[in-house]
Amino acid sequence: KAPVIAVDGPGGSGKGTITQMLARKLGWHLLDSGALYRLTALAAMRQGVALNDEAGLVKVAATLDVAFEPTGEGHPVKVVLAGEDVTSEIRTETCGDNASKVAVIQPVRDALLQRQRDFRQLPGLVADGRDMGTVVFPDAPVKIFLTASAEERARRRYNQLKQAGVDVNIDALLEEIRVRDDRDMNRSAAPLKPADDAQVIDSTGLSIEEVLDRCMAAAGQ
Ligand code: C5P
Repeated sequence: KAPVIAVDGPGGSGKGTITQMLARKLGWHLLDSGALYRLTALAAMRQGVALNDEAGLVKVAATLDVAFEPTGEGHPVKVVLAGEDVTSEIRTETCGDNASKVAVIQPVRDALLQRQRDFRQLPGLVADGRDMGTVVFPDAPVKIFLTASAEERARRRYNQLKQAGVDVNIDALLEEIRVRDDRDMNRSAAPLKPADDAQVIDSTGLSIEEVLDRCMAAAGQ
């Protein structure tokens, strides 16, 4: 079986950046599981399926027509939904918020389970999510739980958006982060929490390079 480095944690903890860097450094595959929840939410909107229509959402998740295509620069992968490039669209706050709403539905999670496990291929997989170490890859030899304070995560998001020319209010961002954390941690379906055998890394006040070094050390690389 191919080795897996499971990286879980709340939104804005730096998981996305770190897992991309780890995968590139090791030459391993990358699973962005959050993208699958975002895609389910987006596909539901496209197909006119309401976010409270459980049976409809399960069908959308089970029949998701998605391809992750490698690119050279910029976005590491192009995300194609039913033939349409949705790489930027799935990154919006609305899509993230809707993703966290469909993610509370256990049958939706079940419908996405095998699709996630299929990413486990040689030489190895770096898996980014909320339940990689607890549910999807419970036998992963390396589990990392990456956190940062809510204030730090709001600050990072603020800087990202400011660089992109988007005018935002940092208090509003902090509030959104708290609402999303609360929904992710207090749901009954695969609540966000470190696996018993996870190594917890708090990235508050650390640079990307420092976090990457700690993750490589945790992975024994
Ligand atoms: O990580 P990302 O922000 O893309 O995830 C969007 C939402 O999808 C999260 O807020 C969470 O509710 C859900 N999610 C999940 N399990 C995962 C990955 C994401 O429930 N493994």
